Amino acid sequence: MPTCVVLGSGTSNGVPMLGVEYPDAFLANPKNWRTRCSICLLGPTGNFLVDCAPELRIQMARERIYDVEATLITHTHADHVMGMDDLRSLCVKSGKDMPVYAWPRYQEDIRRIYPYAFAAAPPGLEVPRYDLRDLPPVIAVGGMQVETLEVVHGKIPVVAIRVGGFAYVTDVSEIPQPAWDRLQGLETLILDAVRIKRHPNHFNLEQALDVASRLSAKKTYLTHLSHDYDHEFTNQSLPKGIELAWDGLRIEF
Ligand SMILES: [Zn+2]
Repeated sequence: MPTCVVLGSGTSNGVPMLGVEYPDAFLANPKNWRTRCSICLLGPTGNFLVDCAPELRIQMARERIYDVEATLITHTHADHVMGMDDLRSLCVKSGKDMPVYAWPRYQEDIRRIYPYAFAAAPPGLEVPRYDLRDLPPVIAVGGMQVETLEVVHGKIPVVAIRVGGFAYVTDVSEIPQPAWDRLQGLETLILDAVRIKRHPNHFNLEQALDVASRLSAKKTYLTHLSHDYDHEFTNQSLPKGIELAWDGLRIEF
């Protein structure tokens, strides 16, 4: 069965955040340690990486994931692309350029951030190589059919995905009607709920709970989480069928 591995469930700062002192009780729960937000879909014939968090290498080693068939970049905010250099090892291992799916505006950012991945390199020098590809409505990867949807994150578009009864919607403040229609009848939804207070670019907890109840997936996991959330304490107060995601969560679909 295909499986979604939550590589990271944290907001852009990560949790614990640099420069903040936390109570020992908060730090004692490993589920309160959140790396930056990304997932990897383990398909029948290959793995599909969605976003490259700054901790990509650590996340993949932790989850014992050794190969990636293709990568999707949902948008180019730092927390979603700053691990792309780590793809270098996989390019060297496979001897192939890494297919990277992204909208053209985000392909431009990737070329600007990683110019050396596209420049001629002296023999023997190891650099990542990205085979940038536009987003089709459906990506066939790893023996899965990954449907690509468009949601809104503040003022910019972000890719959400649906595979069978599973959907992943990170970095979202608005779900336009076409995507909304495609998010009906889900078994499992992973949804952005960045923090308790309102946020201009993300659903906060109240908005995420409202969206989750209206989409009514059988199970909803909240992700892109800040340190507002103590894992156990928050879960006790969430409605039935909704809970916080955590780093290392695995969902079969
Ligand atoms: Zn973002």
